[in-house]
Amino acid sequence: MNTKALQPSFGTFGLRGLANVDLTPQLALEIGLCMANYLGPGKTVVVGRDSRTSSEMLSMAVSSGLLSGGCHVKYVGLVATPALSFAVKNLKADGGVMVTASHNPPEWNGIKLWNSDGSGFSRSQDKVIEGMLLRGELKHVSWSRIGRFEIVEGVPEMYVEGILERVNVEAIRRRGYRVVLDCGGGSACNSSPKLLRKLGCDLKTINCTPDGFFRARPPEPRPENLSELVEAVKSVGADLGVAHDGDADRAAFIDEKGLYVQGDRILALLCLNHFRNRSGGLIVTTVITSSVIYDVAEKVGAKVILTPVGEPYLVEKMKETGAEIGGEENVGLIVRDWVWSREGAYAVALVLELMAREGKSLSELSDSLPKYEQAKLMVRCDREIFPLIKHMVVELVKEMLPQDYDRLITIDGVKAYYGRNWVLVRPSGTEPLFRVYVEAEDKTTLEELKKMGLKVTEDAVKESTDKIKGGLNA
Ligand code: MG
Repeated sequence: MNTKALQPSFGTFGLRGLANVDLTPQLALEIGLCMANYLGPGKTVVVGRDSRTSSEMLSMAVSSGLLSGGCHVKYVGLVATPALSFAVKNLKADGGVMVTASHNPPEWNGIKLWNSDGSGFSRSQDKVIEGMLLRGELKHVSWSRIGRFEIVEGVPEMYVEGILERVNVEAIRRRGYRVVLDCGGGSACNSSPKLLRKLGCDLKTINCTPDGFFRARPPEPRPENLSELVEAVKSVGADLGVAHDGDADRAAFIDEKGLYVQGDRILALLCLNHFRNRSGGLIVTTVITSSVIYDVAEKVGAKVILTPVGEPYLVEKMKETGAEIGGEENVGLIVRDWVWSREGAYAVALVLELMAREGKSLSELSDSLPKYEQAKLMVRCDREIFPLIKHMVVELVKEMLPQDYDRLITIDGVKAYYGRNWVLVRPSGTEPLFRVYVEAEDKTTLEELKKMGLKVTEDAVKESTDKIKGGLNA
């Protein structure tokens, strides 16, 4: 097979592509072989997968590649991504492979590689694998050194037990919360229902049978995809609604009124909870996260560290600074002494624990935090021009923004804070467009910032495009 023609490339977190088109079993096998060559023969690798129609096929192919390169495979089957991370650490493996495309549509799939400590491969590690793949210099071991294949059952149960050991189960059970859980047919199906039942919840499940077609709803738990969950929360009078993404490293929350609670507010509440009995500490989050994280940090005497968008950056910064907790604006909670993966199920258990301890509903908890207005806009540009002007636009936006900002963050696009209000402009990682994120303490300021953010971005795109086209024509 000629892998060179495929030009596979890794994104912010692993390799993604259309199943059986970009991401074929041949390619999966070669990635397994690369991983085996990277680790060396005799090492043990945990392999897990999500519920996609192509995941069984691809995880078997990855396993073959690993075995062919002399690695032993512990195959854990359908698991949540954080459960894979948990298994790598707890089975004392040397690495892991997870076959999933997370929240992408059903025809997609992806392969993520993991270190022995349960953290995903960094960008530089992915580059090494990408290089091996492109050069195609892959070594098979002799027949006598081929790895052993073992099916390991019970990982979802071990993972659930691990979470139960970390929360106050009795306090949650006493409340007898009524919860509606929507696994969307994804990886959460064999862990989150078990977890919530063990937490004594009166549980109604929807879409909790694995479905590789994601017929009930798309794998991404965005508010517009959760109408069935919202209806169910209202109709049974639930205390909480929960939805996971395809590989359950995220959870979305619906309060007892049937309203979607923004992920950054959940993250802020979980940070508040985390630091309740101690003073000081670090919170690591990405540039997109709401200012509400600063409100919470001030309250508990913690410091906020911002990173570029993407789990590897969060994990890297948490490791570097020793921060105990981190997360994304979509919750994507990471707790240092648990697993080095974003969490879905653990975040759910922690939200219930917080509700139980405070004796408050989720809407009351969320309302206890300052309110912010948010908007997300975009400015499109020519597909061919986009890669050429990406950096120029960011530089121009930096100059064109009103210069009376309090703080300018330039680690991922450009973000200007005006007090608690802010504008962030960043090039999309996947499409030829620039995203403009805006947050303000009131609606009037939000409208002003939206207008300003959009104008400077459009002007910067126009000026950069003209410059490039002028250069090309000269
Ligand atoms: Mg995910």
